[in-house]
Amino acid sequence: MQQDIWKFTGLILTAAIVGYSIGFILPTILLMTLGILGWQIYRLHLLYKWVINPRKDPMPEMSGQFYLLHRELSRKNAQNQKRKRQLSTFLTQFRRAIGALPDAIVLISNTGKIEWANPNAKEVLGIRWPEDSQVRFSDLIRYPEVEAILNNVEPPELGVVVRSLSNKDQTINFKCVRYTKDQRMVIARDVSRLIKVNQIHTDFVANVSHELKTPLTVLRGYVEILQDAKNLPDKFVKPLAQMNIQSVRMQLIVSDLLYLAKLEDSSTEKDLQPVDITSVVNTILEAVQPLIEEKRHKLELDVDYSLKMLGAPTELHSAFSNLITNAIHYTPENGLIKLRWRMSGQQAVFSVKDNGPGIPAQHLDRLTQRFYRVDPDRSRESGGTGLGLAIVKHVLQRHKAELEIDSTEGVGSEFKCVFPRDKLLNKLPEHLKSSI
Ligand code: ADP
Repeated sequence: MQQDIWKFTGLILTAAIVGYSIGFILPTILLMTLGILGWQIYRLHLLYKWVINPRKDPMPEMSGQFYLLHRELSRKNAQNQKRKRQLSTFLTQFRRAIGALPDAIVLISNTGKIEWANPNAKEVLGIRWPEDSQVRFSDLIRYPEVEAILNNVEPPELGVVVRSLSNKDQTINFKCVRYTKDQRMVIARDVSRLIKVNQIHTDFVANVSHELKTPLTVLRGYVEILQDAKNLPDKFVKPLAQMNIQSVRMQLIVSDLLYLAKLEDSSTEKDLQPVDITSVVNTILEAVQPLIEEKRHKLELDVDYSLKMLGAPTELHSAFSNLITNAIHYTPENGLIKLRWRMSGQQAVFSVKDNGPGIPAQHLDRLTQRFYRVDPDRSRESGGTGLGLAIVKHVLQRHKAELEIDSTEGVGSEFKCVFPRDKLLNKLPEHLKSSI
């Protein structure tokens, strides 16, 4: 800057001296000023041409302020070029990596149009890139469940599973991720094999359980006949009693396994109907009364009689009965068991609370797994099959409800079944209530 000021001052002074010597001081200064201005405009034009296209119009030697400006612009330009190259390499690698994923990935704009798709989108969804660019996703993929998760502000983490319309042997899991406020990424995976393997597994367990049912009934029948026999030698009394206990246990396991298989079978129609939870609980309590008396437990009930819901009565009976019998079994004598059926915020909660031994925190996540037991010996002693909580979880899943477990060692446990508002009869709109 200073250099330029000195230069221009020097030029104006020279013009003044020359003008003075020839007697035209002001016109000479004016002429010099116009010359300087013209020169500056020309250099500005050169700079502009260079900024527009640095490769085609190399910058001529510059000095002063223009030199500094040019140097700074060159530096910024070089930096941008470098960043551009890095970004482009990163983008290529990223697309290559996404392309190698076995899932179909489709990016959707705020207007629902396809912005990008990886090569697997063609295989899994029939979406071709770049041919289907800017085509509406919902014009190509027409599943109402998928449309629903796309429009959901908080799409479900596990997505939705749909049977392909074009190929009935294909099952696809769709997930939607909102990566900006309006833009979404659809991840679709072909889960046909997984579903098939699961089905084989479920069928196998169901078939084995079914096949075991008859031999077990026969075995138990004979054991009972032998137990009732007169003149039974003393040495057979205990073994036969054990055989009876074990065969009863096996029958319970088999019937629980069959029940679980029935719950897992998606074709099992859930008989949705208004359920009076208090009468379900009363029926269970009548059945477990002898057990409660035997263990001298105190029972406290806190129920909202007016709170009714839509559900499958037999399934709910089975789930609640498992929770109540667990509380009775695992709580030592003279315990306190509290049953609650009430609204909690927007949801209805059925809970069973006991002041039993509680469950160490590290077991809580795995409690609903089949045959998972905190203390296997105690569970077997109490006649448990190890399938009770797995049944509870399945029943609740079928009612879109959640199982919450709070437990503190030495204090007790609370098992809560949390039902969504749309299952509550009192909360349904009048027109829906009358249609049920
Ligand atoms: P089980 O037939 O063995 O009772 P469940 O699936 O019903 O099987 O329960 C799994 C395990 O959870 C049980 O073995 C037990 O260790 C633990 N459990 C369940 N309910 C309670 C409870 N109310 N108090 C303490 N432990 C419990």
